[in-house]
Amino acid sequence: MTAVLSVRDVTVAFPGGVRALDGVSLDIHPGELVSIVGPSGSGKSTLLHIMGTLARPTGGRVEIDGHDVAGLSDRQLSALRGRRLGFVFQHFHLSDGLTATENVATGLLYAGVPRRRRRPPALAALDRVGLAHRADHQPHQLSGGERQRVAIARALVHRPSLVLADEPTGALDTTNGRAVLQLLTQLNKEGTTIAFITHDRDIARQLPRRVELLDGRIVTDTGPASDTHAQARATAL
Ligand code: ADP
Ligand code: MG
Repeated sequence: MTAVLSVRDVTVAFPGGVRALDGVSLDIHPGELVSIVGPSGSGKSTLLHIMGTLARPTGGRVEIDGHDVAGLSDRQLSALRGRRLGFVFQHFHLSDGLTATENVATGLLYAGVPRRRRRPPALAALDRVGLAHRADHQPHQLSGGERQRVAIARALVHRPSLVLADEPTGALDTTNGRAVLQLLTQLNKEGTTIAFITHDRDIARQLPRRVELLDGRIVTDTGPASDTHAQARATAL
């Protein structure tokens, strides 16, 4: 089965010689839930940018759903990103002045869904994260945990191949953090493929596959979980 994401021998070097990534290879397959864990400065954010096609590597190769991204123009790249990837950030990045539904609907902007058809899928995505009853609330009327669930709904609404979550529990208290972790685990059981970036080893340990970064290199990869059901579910969806 084609990997949703394939990173092959990727290097990211900055002027002055710092190598934020140094020969990183990683495949993520449909239905996986992968933690990418490492201390501050180990290269997590750089890897997320590479996986999310937000930055181009100095060396190596990146494929999304089998498409080599090196040959794409910035415009084609942003179209590919808009259709196939979903992003969740530590600090939610919701727009104030928009309702939860409108925030989620922005996830369809770059997926080519016309404005008049965005509301039903946005409401359905809010329902999936348990927030149907907050559809008309604005971010300032929601708790931190609820805001992150809205952001997760936005990342899901266009049914991406891969959701990239960068420290999604990092700004939440323990209870809300645990709830967000549970929600992402549940969404994965329903077929969503997720890469979960964290510095929290306790969280990483709870996920089916753990990739550990240190000084820009992968030092541990527990490998795809032997859960064939996850792949079967993912293909069925
Ligand atoms: P993490 O997210 O794990 O904390 P980063 O990916 O942000 O790590 O950074 C990895 C390494 O690359 C660090 O040593 C950092 O200082 C360096 N780095 C990141 N971005 C830049 C940049 N724009 N210029 C120079 N060095 C950078
Ligand atoms: Mg970082």
